[in-house]
Amino acid sequence: MYNIPMTTAYTFVPSPGHEYPDHPERPGRLDELTPKLDSFSATRLESVPAKQEDIARVHLPRLISGLERVCREQAPGIIDYAPTYVAPTSYDDALLAAGATLVCARAVLNGEIDNAFAIVRPPGHHAEPDKAMGFCLFNNVAVAARDALAQGMERVLVVDYDAHHGNGTQAAFLNDERLAYLSTHQWGIYPGTGWFEDAPHARKRIVNVPLPAYAGDQAFARITDEIIQPMVEAFRPEMILVSAGFDAHWNDPITALGLSSAGFFQISKRLVELAAEHCGGKIVFVLEGGYQPVNVANGAGAVFSALAGKTQEFDAGDPSPRGEPEVDSRLEEVRRWHGF
Ligand SMILES: [Zn+2]
Repeated sequence: MYNIPMTTAYTFVPSPGHEYPDHPERPGRLDELTPKLDSFSATRLESVPAKQEDIARVHLPRLISGLERVCREQAPGIIDYAPTYVAPTSYDDALLAAGATLVCARAVLNGEIDNAFAIVRPPGHHAEPDKAMGFCLFNNVAVAARDALAQGMERVLVVDYDAHHGNGTQAAFLNDERLAYLSTHQWGIYPGTGWFEDAPHARKRIVNVPLPAYAGDQAFARITDEIIQPMVEAFRPEMILVSAGFDAHWNDPITALGLSSAGFFQISKRLVELAAEHCGGKIVFVLEGGYQPVNVANGAGAVFSALAGKTQEFDAGDPSPRGEPEVDSRLEEVRRWHGF
C-alpha cells in the first residue's frame, strides 16, 4: 500500500480570557504547544463561532441562554463542584471552541482536507444536554457529530481516550441510533459514570472501557485491536471524531492512566487507519483534557504524526515508569457484554 501524504488542517482556540485562579484547565495548558504549531505540516483554518442553532443540536435552549447570562452578568464564578468556572469571556470562548470544531469537521466532510485537529478550550466531553460540568461548557465533539448528521452523514462514531469518562457525550448519544460512543477511562475518578454496563439497550453502540490506574500503552494497543476495531466493523461509521485527552498520560497532575506519548501515537495511528478503511479517511481529533503542558505538546505532536499518515513511531522519550496492571479480565468482561 502506498503511503499517501495527507492534507491535514487544524484550528486553534486558546481562549486566553477563560481562566480562573489556580484552576488546572487554564490557558497555560497550551504554552508548550503554541510555539510548535508552525512545525507541524498542517494548514491552520480560521475559527468562527458556532451559532446558537448549532449548539442547540445537543444542548437545551435554557442551558445556552443560562450560560450566556451567567457569563455576562455574574462571572467570574464557579458553577459546579468539579469545579467548573466561568469568566466574562467564557460564553464567547465556548462558542468559538465549538465553532472551531465545526470548521474542522465540515472541511473534512466537504473534502477540502483529508483530516483535522481542533485544538480548542474550554473542553467539551463532560457537558450534558442540560448541564455544563467538569470544566466543560458546550460539548464540542457532540455538536460536531450532530452537525455531521445534519450534513447527510448516517452514522458517526466518537472515540474518547481522555482519562475521564465523557458522560456528556454518552448522555447526548444515548438514544440516538445514528451516533456511537466508545470511551476508555480511568475507573474510580470523576465523574463516576462509564461502567461497562451503563447502557444495556445500546450494546455495541455505547461502549465503555473502565480501566485501572496506569493501564498503559499495552492495554490501549489491546483495546484498539480487541474492542475498537470490532466496534467500528459492527457500527460502520461514516466518520470518526476523537475526543483526544492528554490527561491519559502517566504523569498528568490530576489523573493517572499510564500512557506515554508513544502510546498516544499508537492509538491515534490505529484510529486514522480505521477511518481510512471504513470512513474514506474522515477523522477529526478534538482536544479535551491534559493538564501538563509538555504532555499536551507531545500528545498533539503524536496526533499530527498520525494524521499525516506517518508510520514511523512517534516517541517523545517519556515511557511510563510504572508496571502495567493486568487488564485481561476487564477486557474480557467488556467484550462479552457487547459480543465482540
Ligand atoms: Zn479528562
